[in-house]
Amino acid sequence: AKEGDAPKYKFFSAPLNERLQAEMLTETLLRAALKTHQLQLFYQPQVCPQQGKLIGLEALIRWPHETRGFIPPNEFIPIAEKTGLILELGQYVLNEACKQAAHWTHSGFDFRQISVNVSPLQFRQTNFAKTVKRTLQTYGVPANHLCLEVTENVFVDTSEKLVLNILSELQKIGVQLSLDDFGSGYSSLTYLHRLPFQELKIDRAFLTHADRHEQKEQLFQAIVGLGRSLGLRIIAEGAETAGEYALTAAHRCDGIQGYFCSAAVPAGDIQARISAFQRSLGHKPEATIETSA
Ligand code: C2E
Ligand code: MG
Ligand code: MG
Ligand code: MG
Repeated sequence: AKEGDAPKYKFFSAPLNERLQAEMLTETLLRAALKTHQLQLFYQPQVCPQQGKLIGLEALIRWPHETRGFIPPNEFIPIAEKTGLILELGQYVLNEACKQAAHWTHSGFDFRQISVNVSPLQFRQTNFAKTVKRTLQTYGVPANHLCLEVTENVFVDTSEKLVLNILSELQKIGVQLSLDDFGSGYSSLTYLHRLPFQELKIDRAFLTHADRHEQKEQLFQAIVGLGRSLGLRIIAEGAETAGEYALTAAHRCDGIQGYFCSAAVPAGDIQARISAFQRSLGHKPEATIETSA
């Protein structure tokens, strides 16, 4: 088409084109970042809301950008998934997390368990369980120190049977299995009881402001009850305030992961963060307020 004689669809295709170009650029940069080890893992503590004791850590990928600070995973993980780069990225994360776990064990830091996010594409790879087993062996990490988090998205486009098979293989290896962002997506309620998860992470949306809204609290409580009845360890995601933290204690969650304790930080900062948090509990009476259960 001539200049100035643009067809109507150009109005729509131009931004789409821009988006595709931006995605391709991101993919190129991400691939390079992966190759040159620019991607880092940060760790976010999970603590029990009764005494604030460490019960585990989640590894979260960080991509530092020269001028933009950190590029949020929610911006590049979907692109990595679309392009398949997530397979390499996922293995990198698994390696780094196992390396860190081995290091912590040798230095005498009792981190309990390290959680790693697994994307659906990675999860469905042939031999994923074997790969996990080999990685654990490479770094000398006992299987029960590793927890693999998947979201309800693993059920999209995949039969329940296949998901169950993969989970069962992973269970045989002895790794912990966690259902992440529970309640935020495609609901797996009908077969949750048949899947070998040990842990349920309640999506942050349910805890946010639940200490200030009766109905939100009831919904939160119901989800905790559901997880409990299935014998799962319950982690509440996204506790940001003393009120939300206290609510998770009142409803007997096994753990919380949220800014109230700490954001994700470099491995070297973890112990200081946890100590600071535990000290702060002693000075913050509002953190132990009883809420109506
Ligand atoms: P996620 O697995 O549900 O991880 C929890 C996210 O919530 C993290 O965001 C964490 O920083 C954030 N968060 C924790 N506490 C709070 C809080 O109190 N308030 C708020 N507002 N947010 C909180 P992050 O690191 O930006 O990661 C976002 C998502 O990107 C993750 O959600 C996960 O789905 C994905 N992701 C991160 N790292 C990896 C990875 O290594 N592999 C894969 N496949 N996905 C990853
Ligand atoms: Mg997660
Ligand atoms: Mg989550
Ligand atoms: Mg998420």
